[in-house]
Amino acid sequence: MKIITRFAPSPTGFLHIGGVRTALYSWLFSRRNKGLFILRMEDTDIYRSNNKSINSIINGLKWLNINWDKDPFFQTNNIYKYMLIIKKMLNDGNAYKCYCSKNRLNLLRNYQIKNKIKPRYDKFCTNFIKKKKQYVIRFRNPNNGFVIFNDKIRGLIKINNKELDDLIICRENGIPTYNFSSVIDDINMNITHIIRGVEHINNTPRQINIFKVLNQKIPKYAHVSIILDKNKKKLSKRNCINDINEYKKKGYIPEAIINYILKLGWSYKNKEIFTINEMKKCFSFKNFIKSNSIFDIKKLNWLNQNYMKKMPIVKIKKKILSYIDNINLNINKIPKIESVIKLFKKRCKNLIEMVKLFKYIYKKKILLNYFMFKKILKFKHIYKILIIIYNKFKKNKFWNNNNINLIILKIKKQFKLKMYEICMPLRIIITGNIKTPNINDIIYIIKKKTVLYRINQIINIIYNFKNN
Ligand code: GLU
Ligand code: ZN
Repeated sequence: MKIITRFAPSPTGFLHIGGVRTALYSWLFSRRNKGLFILRMEDTDIYRSNNKSINSIINGLKWLNINWDKDPFFQTNNIYKYMLIIKKMLNDGNAYKCYCSKNRLNLLRNYQIKNKIKPRYDKFCTNFIKKKKQYVIRFRNPNNGFVIFNDKIRGLIKINNKELDDLIICRENGIPTYNFSSVIDDINMNITHIIRGVEHINNTPRQINIFKVLNQKIPKYAHVSIILDKNKKKLSKRNCINDINEYKKKGYIPEAIINYILKLGWSYKNKEIFTINEMKKCFSFKNFIKSNSIFDIKKLNWLNQNYMKKMPIVKIKKKILSYIDNINLNINKIPKIESVIKLFKKRCKNLIEMVKLFKYIYKKKILLNYFMFKKILKFKHIYKILIIIYNKFKKNKFWNNNNINLIILKIKKQFKLKMYEICMPLRIIITGNIKTPNINDIIYIIKKKTVLYRINQIINIIYNFKNN
């Protein structure tokens, strides 16, 4: 049997963490089994579905390298196919038209709630032939018996048909609802395994009943636990960055995101870091976690940093180019971007942070704010020291780490300074920052000309400041 899974988002919002997780698990399961993975846009809610959302889903998955087979499928291109089946179901008596007004349904609901009856449709329109223009079509759910299925994560689930509503399968506007079109496509696409969020578990017995009246093979189901924030609230825009494309903008590494999301609801021994191949190899339903998962941005940052440390420089280079373009930084000057990445890659949580941290390297002038300037002035003999350093650097013929270090050490000795008292002012002057990689390394990679320019710049400012 060929394994076929699908990711079936309703394109009504951005691609969020929970969606990526469903897509990832479905993708891994099909890839592991050399099956197919299908992307299906469940866009039959025509008022809420939109192109922005479709783009968010497609771009997000592409960025994460979750690739799908065949073209993405859009349900709205196939309305007539669903309607043919609904017509047949109406003829066979497996579906019926419901003419109830919103008002009637509301009254019914209020009555049921007041009398502590589980709110559901009372089948008022079954066997009831009334010719009105406005109607929805309902599935005739069996009145007796049970729906039993073996959830791959949650085990055996048994639901009494008496608990189930006659659900609406076609709206008043003639467009089928999610529960119906989803089943029909799962049939047409020969989906073997449905992996989705546990919030869908109540839909499953209803959907199984539709499979049954259509005499179709029922797929296997796996309902994945909910993701919560630290305060046990459902993830939302308010309590975390939930839009996957925001993580891209913020400079996260897609492999780290995938690794993090994989572990939200699934685990394998004590292993934390997985390559994509390892994920494919280890993935099975045995290792799902039934309890809710907690989203922890600190752990994601830790993982991201870990990936950055290990990532080859050329790969990081490829990934940061777009961020560099965004801030119009010209990196085609000295030093080579590869040597800059080498210095910075261990120090940053993400790619954007890295670009922000090293951008001073490629700027000609360093803009010091007043606070930084005051800080420099506080260092002992600073004016004199800067002039000496400037001259020594200028005379130096062999620009290498060792020579730079020797010059600095000599001046330190001459003025009886602590290391900090010479490195800190240099650091501020040359980088405009208080925290940087080893200042000798920075001085070395940005080369003599720029270093002299920056030191000279500050000498002039101090000179003018003193004489005014
Ligand atoms: N369109 C549904 C959703 O976005 C899909 C549920 C399913 O996988 O069946 O939640
Ligand atoms: Zn009705």
